[in-house]
Amino acid sequence: MSSSRFSLTTQILIAMGAGLALGVLVNLFLKDAGWVQTWFVDGLLHVIGAIFVAALKMLVVPLVFVSLVGGVTALGDISALGRISVKALGLYLLTTAVAISLALVLAALVQPGQGFEAGAGEFVYQPKAAPPLSQVIIDMVPANPIAALAQGKMLQVIVFALLFGVAITLAAERGRHVLNFFNDLGAVIEQMVDIVMKLAPLGVFALITQTFARQGLDIILPLAGYFLVVASALVLHALLTYGALLRLGGLNPLPFFWKMRSVQLFAFSTASSNATIPVNLKNAEERLGVDNTVASFTIPLGATINMDGTAIMQGVATVFIANVYGVHLGLPEFLTVVLTATLASIGTAGVPGVGLIMLAMVLGQVGLPVEGIALIIGVDRLLDMMRTAVNVTGDAAVTCVVARSEGALQPALYRDYRAGYDLEPERAELD
Ligand code: ASP
Repeated sequence: MSSSRFSLTTQILIAMGAGLALGVLVNLFLKDAGWVQTWFVDGLLHVIGAIFVAALKMLVVPLVFVSLVGGVTALGDISALGRISVKALGLYLLTTAVAISLALVLAALVQPGQGFEAGAGEFVYQPKAAPPLSQVIIDMVPANPIAALAQGKMLQVIVFALLFGVAITLAAERGRHVLNFFNDLGAVIEQMVDIVMKLAPLGVFALITQTFARQGLDIILPLAGYFLVVASALVLHALLTYGALLRLGGLNPLPFFWKMRSVQLFAFSTASSNATIPVNLKNAEERLGVDNTVASFTIPLGATINMDGTAIMQGVATVFIANVYGVHLGLPEFLTVVLTATLASIGTAGVPGVGLIMLAMVLGQVGLPVEGIALIIGVDRLLDMMRTAVNVTGDAAVTCVVARSEGALQPALYRDYRAGYDLEPERAELD
């Protein structure tokens, strides 16, 4: 939308503000107007929002596969791939462990849920089972790669693409046609990303209006303590942990945070790290100056295994539920929470609401009633949106640090606040 006076980020922000206002108004005044709910909230808005999310998801598998194959072949050096994997995995696990520890400390200080009135028995929640870790590891290898692609199983797609890319490199001259094909395909898919991003303001407007029209704001009040502790821990973690990580990695955090805004808005509106992969990848490469060889691997990997925001919610929720049920948690339980939540984040995909499934696992580990989840489910949609924004920020921060350590980050591009301005291809080319 180069013809627009506003940048894409500004357009999305305006769309969010308008959606919030309209959604709250509809919730306050038109809740009982059946036709508004049927035709507008569950009709028009639902259709537009769902099309937008589906369009983003449509891009994920082709984009990740093609760009990862391209990245691995461009890397050439297979041992570099091993190093990047170890660094990225290590940092993803470390940041998640820090996130949940921070959440537990904050929750232990504030003690949300003490004196919570609601009778816990009124609520019912039936969790879906989370997969055991051994199965997660086995499942990383796709027995049927076409099925993996068709079902969008990210870890399997990543493993297959890595192997495919390595094989192209090893095949050298004989693999050249396939290599060229993938490079050309990459350019085409990038154009598709650009087209879908033009839908963003409208899509975001529909998603946000719908959320608030359904939820309203008053639902937050009874759970204000829990909500505020999670929200504060999310903000603290995003600023302090990622700020420190970038600094230690030799990068100034300010350009990073500035350029992450539009990605965070996508994550917030869709509540899905997976759906945000195309935007996060594009932002990392075009605005943060990360080489495709690193970003094409670490961003999709992070979307699947790195969920710091989700871990934070789990830490606070555990303390909250323990308080409501009058259960005392000691150090061993806290450590169990840290370990379980960190491991749980590996096996579960970055899609909306998955945090609750992981929470069921964590609660089970420390012997808390899983039904407790029903207490917090009311505010979970909003917190899901917030924590997804933190999740994708973590993926990008680790990506920048790993890239910098591999010499795969262009410092001048990273520092340039207007680089690839607002992900808009027309302007990026002018820069
Ligand atoms: N929606 C989150 C994500 O996609 C996961 C969750 O916390 O439920 O990263």
